Amino acid sequence: MERIQFKTQIWTGADSLEELESISGRRIFVVTDPFMVKSGSLDKITDHLAEKNELDIFSDIQPDPPITKIVTGIEELQKFKATLLVAVGGGSAIDATKAMKFILKKMSKNETDLDLIAIPTTSGTGSEVTNFAVITNSDKGIKYPLVTDDILPKVALLDASLVESAPQNITVDTGMDVLTHCLEAYVSVNANDFSDALAEKAFQMVFTYLKRASDNGKDMEARQKMHDASCIAGMAFNMVNLGLNHGIAHAAGAQYHIPHGRLNTILMPHIIAYNADMSSGVMENPNRAAVKYANLARLIGINVANPKIAVRNLINTIIQLRKRLNMPASFQEYGLDEQVFKSTKISVARAALKDRTTTANPRVPTQADVEAILEESF
Ligand code: NAD
Repeated sequence: MERIQFKTQIWTGADSLEELESISGRRIFVVTDPFMVKSGSLDKITDHLAEKNELDIFSDIQPDPPITKIVTGIEELQKFKATLLVAVGGGSAIDATKAMKFILKKMSKNETDLDLIAIPTTSGTGSEVTNFAVITNSDKGIKYPLVTDDILPKVALLDASLVESAPQNITVDTGMDVLTHCLEAYVSVNANDFSDALAEKAFQMVFTYLKRASDNGKDMEARQKMHDASCIAGMAFNMVNLGLNHGIAHAAGAQYHIPHGRLNTILMPHIIAYNADMSSGVMENPNRAAVKYANLARLIGINVANPKIAVRNLINTIIQLRKRLNMPASFQEYGLDEQVFKSTKISVARAALKDRTTTANPRVPTQADVEAILEESF
């Protein structure tokens, strides 16, 4: 028996921010990053809130949010006596707010449990609907996934006009993160019919709309479709977890400081080949992951009877897409120093094996497997 439950109420489309106007008499702690304030994007949100509420803006969030920033945020929101949290930004701002909500609840012995409204400004992480937050310990060079239903946002507002300002590199990095979520949820050991349906839909949407959003950031149909796809993929992996691609990305991200989606994209072809056991040859019986990847391949027009040949074509199609999006094919192409790579490879592989997302991977990797994937990715 499986329990399928979605807690977060989702509002999507051009006028979804109007939902904020129903909030009144609250002390709202808005968590965001400096870009949102500087660019004026935050005004689009506060304009809907300011009149009937008290606001405090904490705009100090940086990519891969460190624990120290979260502690500062908690001190400030306690001083302000916040009664509602609103997170505005990419995965980093939303994850940081989720961590604040969680720690505050624990510190108050469950007495303070603030509602959270998540407003994503990137189309990538799906954090607005997940019970998942990634926090960085910069001193130790480790990213920790915090996984608990306690951090699920109450409401998610998906207005693509907030993503319009995202430059091409952020559009493609975050868009390919969506693709990683689809692929990992689909082959996860926990996958079910519900998560498969969501992952399949979001997968098709990425192939239809990401290149369009990358070529023309003002293509609002493509932007909104990618915004929805990101959320749909988030719903899929919230149910069934992710896999080794994210396990390695969390471990490597804290060391190499490559943007999360870009890192996932470099790893992706190698992870698919590993999971589908492509080295055993195409005539060998396909494993479960190979059969499932072949299903996804069919959805984007790869109609090949042999599942492993379909997987090979899927990998090539992803590599072509990556090229068309001007993304690097390897860590080296990204500019990672070889000495840094060599001196951290073993510890990154070790951390990847311990990451919570790795537990849902369809193949159980060894230290040697992960080191080999890292070498291939370099
Ligand atoms: P991000 O939040 O780290 O932001 C990256 C950069 O984009 C920042 O400089 C930010 O200012 C800028 N930015 C954001 N929105 C913009 C816009 N509309 N216009 C212009 N610039 C904009 O990026 P992200 O990829 O959304 O999030 C990555 C983080 O999320 C990582 O820490 C990753 O580990 C985590 N993550 C979380 C989940 C989850 O379920 N919680 C899932 C995947 C990844």
